[in-house]
Amino acid sequence: MGVDCMETIVMETNAPEETFALGRKLGQESAPGQVYTLIGDLGVGKTVFTQGFASGLGVTGPVNSPTFTILQIYEDGRIPFYHFDVYRIADVEEMDEIGYEDCFYGDGVCLIEWADLIEEILPEKYRKVTIEKDLEKGFDYRRITIESV
Ligand code: ADP
Ligand code: MG
Repeated sequence: MGVDCMETIVMETNAPEETFALGRKLGQESAPGQVYTLIGDLGVGKTVFTQGFASGLGVTGPVNSPTFTILQIYEDGRIPFYHFDVYRIADVEEMDEIGYEDCFYGDGVCLIEWADLIEEILPEKYRKVTIEKDLEKGFDYRRITIESV
């Protein structure tokens, strides 16, 4: 899977373990400088996906949503992992204050939950992951779309 030529991928999962496994696979394949955005409603599985992604990078510590810190950095994996959750951001300037550019354009991989709130500072190219429910297909069903933007 090349970074620039990856087409849109749609995956369906029916259990949290499957969403974790997909995140894990992408974490294993990720390369320095990549930015992933993660879009989806509360409780859809963004953190489950992120935990899988971290596992794929070889991160061993617990990974949760850094809701109150915006940025959590994990350095014990294969490459640095920058996990953003910008849900509570009030102004994009807060991203400057935490030095986001060193993360977006650095040696690690970024994953940004609620990235639609900071769209104006997203890099030119990134991978957009959208997770959606469809209750007609069951309570644990998720459709996960991965596209290169
Ligand atoms: P978010 O971070 O998007 O708010 P979480 O990852 O914290 O959501 O929670 C997702 C919840 O949905 C978990 O309780 C998880 O067990 C459950 N779940 C059920 N089915 C799935 C699935 N297919 N993929 C991911 N999570 C699922
Ligand atoms: Mg979460």
